[in-house]
Amino acid sequence: MGSQEVSTVDWQGKHVTVAGLGVSGIPAARALHERGALVTVVNDGDDERSRAQAAELEALGVTVRLGDGATLPPSTELVVTAPGWQPNKPLFLAAAEAGVPVWGDVELAWRLRGDDGREPAPWLAVTGTNGKTTTVRMLASILEAAGLRTAAVGNIGVSLLDAVLGETEYDVLAVELSSYQLHWAPSLRAHSAAVLNLAPDHLDWHGSMEAYAADKGRVYEGNTVACVYNAADPATEELVREADVEEGCRAIGFTLGTPGPSQLGVVDGLLVDRAFVADRQKQAQELAEVADVNPPAPHNVANALAAAALARAFGVEPAAVRDGLRAFRPDAHRIEHVADIGEVAYVDDSKATNTHATEASLAAYDSIVWIAGGLAKGATFDELVTGAAKRLRGVVLMGADRALIHEALTRHAPDVPVVDLDRTDTGAMSEAVARAAELARPGDTVLLAPACASMDMFTNYNKRGEAFADAVRARADETA
Ligand code: ADP
Repeated sequence: MGSQEVSTVDWQGKHVTVAGLGVSGIPAARALHERGALVTVVNDGDDERSRAQAAELEALGVTVRLGDGATLPPSTELVVTAPGWQPNKPLFLAAAEAGVPVWGDVELAWRLRGDDGREPAPWLAVTGTNGKTTTVRMLASILEAAGLRTAAVGNIGVSLLDAVLGETEYDVLAVELSSYQLHWAPSLRAHSAAVLNLAPDHLDWHGSMEAYAADKGRVYEGNTVACVYNAADPATEELVREADVEEGCRAIGFTLGTPGPSQLGVVDGLLVDRAFVADRQKQAQELAEVADVNPPAPHNVANALAAAALARAFGVEPAAVRDGLRAFRPDAHRIEHVADIGEVAYVDDSKATNTHATEASLAAYDSIVWIAGGLAKGATFDELVTGAAKRLRGVVLMGADRALIHEALTRHAPDVPVVDLDRTDTGAMSEAVARAAELARPGDTVLLAPACASMDMFTNYNKRGEAFADAVRARADETA
């Protein structure tokens, strides 16, 4: 019943088109072929790598068509797509016209789970614009502390299909879902799910903010126990209201303030639960201290509350929430403390690639020398700069779109000194750190939170964060 219902498809002889070779396409093609489906993989690219991948699949008996991901093979009964493929691609228009359903990798994993007769593990799902990976890892850590067999899977880089079909048995999965994956997952029914926040992102893909929100909101569809929303972000609560859920499923809020009934929140430095208690009018259950959250920045406390809410919805005891949060170590480049030099802290939040993430990061410190810039992806910076102006000791800008941030600073924080580095080479990071160090006073934080993508200067945000950390450590060695 509900989320545990397993739908079995007879794959024998079914014509399935897999759109996109790659991390999700190859395992999907293999899994479907093993089940007797007649699989054709279509792929836009026709480079050396795809040819090698194609050869491996063809050796199994899968048909691969390289260099044309647009035309729908005529006998197709189902399309299984890589999540990143944009919905307005000709292949999908053709599928819609022919009445052929389209599933993403998550939908496929959902449909294949339990088809080998094993009891499938329930999914606790997390989506949102920012904080997904952190929350899912916190959740997995809490579930582990409760003695449950679990894994953090999904958009986090661990394929759901592998988790569902692999030999390891799980009691429950902590699943990160992107808006793309949700778009293509019509029948997914999680045990419980959280939407952490909603800010404009990936609008080029979804077409509009409404379409983006609607795709995020799908995570709540059919939830059986709890729909977890952010009380500070009414758009997330609205999505709960719109969702069609199983009878008895509850709306559970999380807040950085004092929680009301059916909420988790913060009271006197403690994370408390007023949702999963016998009497939510009168009772509040202490879960952990704010200091147990690593790092205890406000947005990260919100992530911890969301993770705790999902774990509590699954029946996890309070002590395991505390132990799981204490055991959690954040991934690299997410508010990562690199070093203290002369009473100045250096923090790497290279993963803050959009303004919403950077806003959270800037809110976590009182006096900041901010290093920012890169590719703006169409963002505007007025709101971000206005909100942070009082806490800025100074700013060092670099990267292709730095002028956009500079203009916003001139408009809203004209007294804040700005160093504008007119270079986009990789070595610019050492200079940025040196200039930031000149601006910083004891007690300040030098914060890399670029609010931009990194690809104008670096291969990815990891490399950008490493360049920052290298420059900081070199400086620390010099001054030691
Ligand atoms: P995602 O998986 O959604 O990209 P991450 O956990 O990897 O999220 O964090 C990405 C960035 O978003 C980090 O740089 C962090 O500063 C910021 N962030 C994390 N949690 C939140 C939150 N709850 N609200 C706003 N920003 C956040």
